[in-house]
Amino acid sequence: MAQEPPTETLSNLLQESRRFAPPAELAAAANVTEAAYGEAAADRLAFWEKQAERLHWNTKWDNALDWSNPPFAKWFTGGQLNVAYNCVDRHVEAGNGDKVAYHWEGEPGDTRTITYADLKREVGKAANALIELGVNKGDRVAIYMPMIPETVIAMLACARLGAPHTVVFGGFSSDALRNRIEDCGAHIVITADGGYRRGAASALKPAVDEAIEGLDHVRNVLVVRRTGQDVAWTDGRDLWWHEFVDGQSEEHEAQPHDAEHPLYVMYTSGTTAKPKGILHTSGGYLTQVSWTHHAVFDLKPDTDVFWTAADIGWVTGHSYIVYGPLSNGATSVMYEGTPDTPHKGRWWELVEKYKVTILYCAPTAIRTFMKWGTEIPAQHDLSSLRLLGSVGEPINPEAYIWYRTNIGGDRTPVVDTWWQTETGALMISPLPGVTHGKPGAAMRPLPGIDADVVDDQGKPVPDGGGGFLVVKEPWPSMLRTIWGDDERYVKTYWSRFDGLYFAGDGAKKDEDGDLWLLGRVDDVMLVSGHNISTTEVESALVSNPKVAEAAVVGATDPTTTQAIVAFVILRGDSIDDGDALVAELRDHVARHLGPIAKPRQIMIVPELPKTRSGKIMRRLLRDVAEHRSLGDVTTLTDSTVMDLIKEKLPAQK
Ligand code: ATP
Ligand code: MG
Repeated sequence: MAQEPPTETLSNLLQESRRFAPPAELAAAANVTEAAYGEAAADRLAFWEKQAERLHWNTKWDNALDWSNPPFAKWFTGGQLNVAYNCVDRHVEAGNGDKVAYHWEGEPGDTRTITYADLKREVGKAANALIELGVNKGDRVAIYMPMIPETVIAMLACARLGAPHTVVFGGFSSDALRNRIEDCGAHIVITADGGYRRGAASALKPAVDEAIEGLDHVRNVLVVRRTGQDVAWTDGRDLWWHEFVDGQSEEHEAQPHDAEHPLYVMYTSGTTAKPKGILHTSGGYLTQVSWTHHAVFDLKPDTDVFWTAADIGWVTGHSYIVYGPLSNGATSVMYEGTPDTPHKGRWWELVEKYKVTILYCAPTAIRTFMKWGTEIPAQHDLSSLRLLGSVGEPINPEAYIWYRTNIGGDRTPVVDTWWQTETGALMISPLPGVTHGKPGAAMRPLPGIDADVVDDQGKPVPDGGGGFLVVKEPWPSMLRTIWGDDERYVKTYWSRFDGLYFAGDGAKKDEDGDLWLLGRVDDVMLVSGHNISTTEVESALVSNPKVAEAAVVGATDPTTTQAIVAFVILRGDSIDDGDALVAELRDHVARHLGPIAKPRQIMIVPELPKTRSGKIMRRLLRDVAEHRSLGDVTTLTDSTVMDLIKEKLPAQK
């Protein structure tokens, strides 16, 4: 008999019994079936070698995996390929040059249609421009851009030359940009005069000027004209894209690079700590993003219109706006702006206009739409949608149901995909033609991925138990190190449990062995001797029809060690009647999870502090709940949010 773990590592409170079978039509034509699990279990490396065959290799690999120096993995050693050739040229050579790669839509409503042949020409010119600027294989290029086609073109030009790019969110401050440019030692910065956000032109170039002041290693700044704003100019250093790139030759022959050649450095969101420069390389990364995009989104390149509604400056944009879709020859939508500009139905208007079939976004967006109300999506024809995805945070069961019902017309499966900047590609997710989905569960590790939940001794927990999410075997798109800091790489990910990759997240295994993500272990609360996950309390709050979004933290408490403090955003039509509402919500949580999980304090707030990728920054809320001054806010989208929250504080005490 399985022995109980010595301590209850994470509580396992929330009950959810709704199930959704895959639609018969989708299941019958699905790209990947149940057989993939068995195939991968029988021979994991052979499984990944088969998926690597999806790509064009100039030289085939000798060895699928070199794990002789753990935790430093090398995949497909001896193999050579060009990532940009795989994403662009080979589709043109196969006669698909006229196929649309991107339906791009600017926030003001301007549009561009970019075919694979267009991409090839533009990437060729940009690659030649970078060569003229002295960019050599291995040199780093920083990209600080709005969501415009040149962002993708710049990334692919870098990939083509083997010059690792580091894309920094357009919303980050000059300080955050400077740290990243310095950390990776970039020689070139590609930017724009500005981009459109919330109905206005928002400048980018001034932040670059400030960020690179005194940084000798930055030689040139290449500037795309997007908004036409006035920009300060440093002659000899600054170059306009339309002058310097547009005049270049379209011809550029891609050279093969080693499978392990660096492709990019991506700094993590910074939700918990100082961002880490995560290094991804070429062959293994492209193999896993390409296969997961094919498998989890069931992508049919001839009929689907795929839309990842995320920023390219987040890993989700890298893997599922750029490298995954392009490697599969997909047609994608790319949108520059915010969901509420010029009106709150903008996303649904785009789904209707481009007949989007697959939509991939974050729970934070879904909860915002819940707050705005069901009438808004109901005004649009969303019948083209056949599959929905979620990423970035645990999706509360009620948000999953809302998404499935109001956006997916109760037909579409919802795939809740767990992964990280560090994992490069999807790791734990339903397969839409196979899995009977459970709202709030990421379900099972994908075929070829060996992940589990362990207790604090590193032993797998039995079904029904909770603990720490780990990955037990190397995977093709895993990070190779932290840029310039091998020691931090080993310490951060490989030292908590011997021989296991520790992701930093808590999870539970239900009675069927399916996985539920419980949020970061740093966020787990200790209340009167019980470990309680923030996710479960948040999901209980969101299951009240008056609540759109909730964030929960543990604040120091003299009697219970920590006490639960909740910050709640109401749905559009709910009324804040003060103490009565707070009492109702406290009781609601107690009824759903038990009295132990009843929040000590609930504050109704207009907004929550979030990173640019939409993740709630609980550490800032903990600072508020414990009456401390705020920690690092540089990765926050909007720092005025914290003032609004602090105003609420004394009144509720
Ligand atoms: P930092 O590591 O700098 O604090 P971050 O962890 O937010 O930032 P990302 O790599 O963008 O940076 O996010 C990965 C994390 O997001 C995961 O570790 C997990 O906590 C959360 N996450 C992503 N997808 C899911 C999901 N489907 N369900 C639950 N949590 C998810
Ligand atoms: Mg992280």
